Amino acid sequence: MMISLVIFLVAALLVVMYIKFRNYVPILMYHRIADVPGDRNSLPAEKFEEQLRFLAQNGYTAITPDMLYAYYTKQEKLPRKSVLLTFDDGYHDNYTEALPLLQKYNMTAVVFPIYNWIGKKNQWENFGKQETTTMTEDELRLWLNAGMDVQVHTLNHPFLTECKDKQLKEEVAVSKRQFEQLLKRPMEYLCYPYGFFDKRVIDEVRKAGYKMAFAIFDNVPLWHINLFALPRIPVPSHQKMWEFKLKVSSIHVIFIAMRKWERDFKKLKRKIFK
Ligand SMILES: [Zn+2]
Repeated sequence: MMISLVIFLVAALLVVMYIKFRNYVPILMYHRIADVPGDRNSLPAEKFEEQLRFLAQNGYTAITPDMLYAYYTKQEKLPRKSVLLTFDDGYHDNYTEALPLLQKYNMTAVVFPIYNWIGKKNQWENFGKQETTTMTEDELRLWLNAGMDVQVHTLNHPFLTECKDKQLKEEVAVSKRQFEQLLKRPMEYLCYPYGFFDKRVIDEVRKAGYKMAFAIFDNVPLWHINLFALPRIPVPSHQKMWEFKLKVSSIHVIFIAMRKWERDFKKLKRKIFK
């Protein structure tokens, strides 16, 4: 008797969550496409290809940020199985490794380069990361011409929540203008460095004229869709395929919510038993 009640309650909760969360489109977050042992942000090309092959064979469509914006604001229809692929920081291997695979599987993706680190060594992450370079201006143009998107990841990649007002304004508004001049197109979407933002940051991002901003799932409240705090799901180097399939499924937000609760629970446990 008790067991059937519990099963019923869990099932009812899942149904409520499904109805609540079904409008979320899975947004995947990648960094490097490279084989770098021990670096969770570097996904080997073979694994990336395995994921793209799964998406292609199972009827997924990679959409653009513009399509996502039109879906959330004008209720424009999206393909039934949509996914948005994003790349942070604009690494050179996105151009050499990811682009040919994206083209092979007829997918599109958006890259978020850091304006002052275009075509340079990755020295903004001088904390034991393997040395590499980022895409050059010309490569960003070729990336665009290949049907991919480029959007903004600030000027210098700071923690925006820790910036003084003047610096925050520059990182957000000046980077937008610089990218627009460089690529001769409007830039309308921002990606928060490290996924960090707060109310002050969002106000500045809105003021600068952006239409949406991308964060990481664990800093984002999931109950309502906030266009300036879109939750993205990291795809780490050790990603198992079953987990990847969950991350792009229609119940992915339930999966994310459970991960958040798991983390909150662990934090609480540490607090109580420390
Ligand atoms: Zn970044």
